[in-house]
Amino acid sequence: MSDNITGKVVVITGASSGLGAAAARRLAARGARLALGARRVDRLEALVAELRAAGGEALAVPTDVTDPAQVQRLVDAAVATFDGLDVIINNAGLMPQSPLERRRIDEWDRMIDVNIKGVLYGIAAALPVMQAQKRGHIINVASVAGHKVRAGGAVYSATKHAVRVISEGLRQEVKPYNIRTTVISPGAVDTELPNSISEPDVAAGIRAFYDAYAISPDSFAEAVLYAMGQPESVDINEILYRPTSQEY
Ligand code: NDP
Repeated sequence: MSDNITGKVVVITGASSGLGAAAARRLAARGARLALGARRVDRLEALVAELRAAGGEALAVPTDVTDPAQVQRLVDAAVATFDGLDVIINNAGLMPQSPLERRRIDEWDRMIDVNIKGVLYGIAAALPVMQAQKRGHIINVASVAGHKVRAGGAVYSATKHAVRVISEGLRQEVKPYNIRTTVISPGAVDTELPNSISEPDVAAGIRAFYDAYAISPDSFAEAVLYAMGQPESVDINEILYRPTSQEY
C-alpha cells in the first residue's frame, strides 16, 4: 500500500534554511522527489548534494518568489525532471516585525511581496498542472500569527491571516479537481526567521522569546508528513501547533 510520500514530486519554496530545509530532509529520506527553490543558491546546492549523497532525489532551482516567472520555472523544472507534480509547499517567508509608527514601508512591501504574493504565485504555477491531472496537494505556510495579532506584528500577522484566507478560498474552489489544501501554522520554531528583523530592540525581544520557547524545525516536517501521508480521500485543511511552553 502507498504511504502517499514515496515517489511523490514535491516543490518547496524557501528550502535553503529552516522549515523548508527540514521538510526537504525528511521527505527525501522517505523517497519523495524534490524541486527546491530559494535565492541562496549555494545553500540550496549544498542541501541537494547532501540529500543525493544519502540516496535522495532532488534538484535546486534558483527562485525569487516575488517574480512569478521564477516560481513558474521552479514548477516547470519539477514537472520536466520528475514527470508530474504532486505537492507544492509555499513556505518562503520573512518576518521583519516593528511597530507601525516606525514606518518601515520597505519591510511592509517585502512581507506582502514574499509572504502573500509569493504564495499566490506558487498557486498560480501549480494549479494548471494539478487541475489537468485531477490530483494534487497545495500546502501553504501561515503561522500562529495568522490567528492572532499583537503590537509590533501587525503587518506580519496580516500577511499570515491573508495566507489562511487565500487557502480557504482555494480549498473551496479546487474541490472539482480533487486537489487537497493544507495550511500549516507553527508557533515559535528555531530557524533563521528572526534574522529578518532589522529594528534592534524588536529583534532582541523576539530572540529572547525564541531562546525561551522555540522548538525544532523537525516539528514542521512531521506536520507535512502527516498531511501528505493521509489517504487521498482525506484533506487535512489546517495544522496549528505551538511549543508546549508557548502561551501566545
Ligand atoms: P528561515 O528564515 O530559516 O527561512 C526562510 C526561507 O524563505 C529561506 O529559505 C529563504 O531563502 C526563503 N525566502 C525568503 N525570501 C525569499 C524570496 N524572495 N524568494 C524565495 N525564497 C525566499 O525561516 P523559517 O524556515 O522559519 O520560515 C519559513 C516559513 O515559516 C515562513 O513563511 C515563516 O513566516 C513561517 N513561519 C515560521 C515560524 C518560526 O517560528 N520559524 C513560525 C510560523 C511561521 P533565501 O533567503 O535563500 O531566498
